[in-house]
Amino acid sequence: MKGIVLKSTGSWFEVMTDDKTVISSRVRGQLRLRDIVSTNPVAVGDHVTLLMQEDGTGTIVEIDPRKNYIIRKSIKLSKQTQILATNIDLAVLVVTPIVPKTSTGFIDRFIAAAESFHIPVALVFNKMDLLADSPDYVKDNYLDIYEPLGYPCFCISTLKNENTEPLKEFIKDKISLFSGHSGVGKSSLINLLCPNLNLKVGSISKTHLKGKHTTTFAEMHAYDENSFLIDTPGIREFVNIDFNQSEISHYFKEMLPLINNCQFNNCLHENEKNCAVKEAVESGKIHPMRYYNYLSILHNEDFFK
Ligand code: GDP
Ligand code: ZN
Repeated sequence: MKGIVLKSTGSWFEVMTDDKTVISSRVRGQLRLRDIVSTNPVAVGDHVTLLMQEDGTGTIVEIDPRKNYIIRKSIKLSKQTQILATNIDLAVLVVTPIVPKTSTGFIDRFIAAAESFHIPVALVFNKMDLLADSPDYVKDNYLDIYEPLGYPCFCISTLKNENTEPLKEFIKDKISLFSGHSGVGKSSLINLLCPNLNLKVGSISKTHLKGKHTTTFAEMHAYDENSFLIDTPGIREFVNIDFNQSEISHYFKEMLPLINNCQFNNCLHENEKNCAVKEAVESGKIHPMRYYNYLSILHNEDFFK
């Protein structure tokens, strides 16, 4: 029997089969992944093969090859990783221009992480009702940077349920991962999209978890027959990647096509002579804010703000 993993609690997995039944399942001991050494062999989003047991539980005996996955490195065992979610079609970052203000530095860090995992990105600008008196604010400070790069942007108010239709349409038939700083309205939005869920809004338990090495697991919710939303508790884990300095420009899609034109093939696009990236910044082809944020990632500055 085939199914998709909706939830993981470490040793038990909720697997939804093709007829939409959810079956509590465990992994058979000898199950191994060829491509990755991981502390958790099965993750949310995995397509698996189940054997039914007499007590109604399932045994996961096979995992289909993954389209992509997001991982976090385990702190103690450097070669081991924890897979947070797999087979993701879209990474949605929920941001707020105000209350709280999400910086473009953070957005660019998120985009670079998603690009490194080969996951397309969409940006949702929430709480637009708070900006009714400043109609150009989001355009000037955000949309003019990200729309020309081809990242879909949705300006919505979850509170007033305004302009949410295009987003609802866009996430159809996809597995979408939802992330965002605490307070941006991610839970409210997921509740709006999946009305039967009732996630806790503004719960203090989340701040309570901050900074602790609690193992948090992503959970997948059915949006409709073929669409799912993954709620990621740990945005820090998603974004906190140890990039090699030389690979960062590969995840800035406007820089990638230029880097072969730099004079030095190990160019970091900072102080080097004849750098095609710097020339593109000077001529206005690359947005100065993107370049500034690139340098900030290069210098490993604190991005979690
Ligand atoms: P989360 O931490 O990202 O999951 O955010 P919550 O969903 O808990 O929402 C945080 C706060 O923002 C709550 O008080 C919500 O009522 C509020 N909020 C969510 N969406 C909107 C919106 O579109 N406009 C306004 N003004 N407030 C919102
Ligand atoms: Zn360069």
